[in-house]
Amino acid sequence: MVLLDLLAPPLCWSCRSPAARAGPLCRVCRRSLRFVGPAPSLVGGLEVWAPVAYDGPGADLVKALKFHGAARLAADMAAIIVANAPAAMLAGHLVPVPLHPARRRARPFNQSALIAGAISERAGLPIADCLGRTGSKQTQVGRAREARLTGAGTIQAAGRPPATALLVDDVVTTGATLAACAAALRAAGTREVGAIAFARTAGR
Ligand SMILES: [Zn+2]
Repeated sequence: MVLLDLLAPPLCWSCRSPAARAGPLCRVCRRSLRFVGPAPSLVGGLEVWAPVAYDGPGADLVKALKFHGAARLAADMAAIIVANAPAAMLAGHLVPVPLHPARRRARPFNQSALIAGAISERAGLPIADCLGRTGSKQTQVGRAREARLTGAGTIQAAGRPPATALLVDDVVTTGATLAACAAALRAAGTREVGAIAFARTAGR
């Protein structure tokens, strides 16, 4: 392992210079991750928390996981989430935000499910992979407003969802997808819904 590292040292996912031995970023980029504090944001009536801002190296990690298939990054991101999350946020069943069917064909994995799995390993929370997305824009006419807002098909809960759900996504921007997921969970009987992610946009 040491020899392999000498031959091909891991590169920083943000600036492509040699990375720190343990972690996806070099020391400079790791220091420039912008932590946004312990207070959750209120997005569409939902308490949402993420450790870092969606810019600079934080955004580069999200894109690396999503577009370059760097699945190992999910574990690094989950470690940063768990190490910084307010204890009150880490409760209930982890519910990954589902991929849009069109993206599921193009991508062999759901990055939210990878992060949820890694959080589960570290924090000991159970996973309830109970949300699915179906349909196209045409079939959304007449559906709930929350589902239409995402422009990403209809989100539905399968089976009996957990009483307390913690939605997991890689990044929170408008919060429309999270709102649609929360609406689907509540409609199926979930009483408490929060959301956790790796990055959030400024002001969230
Ligand atoms: Zn770097």
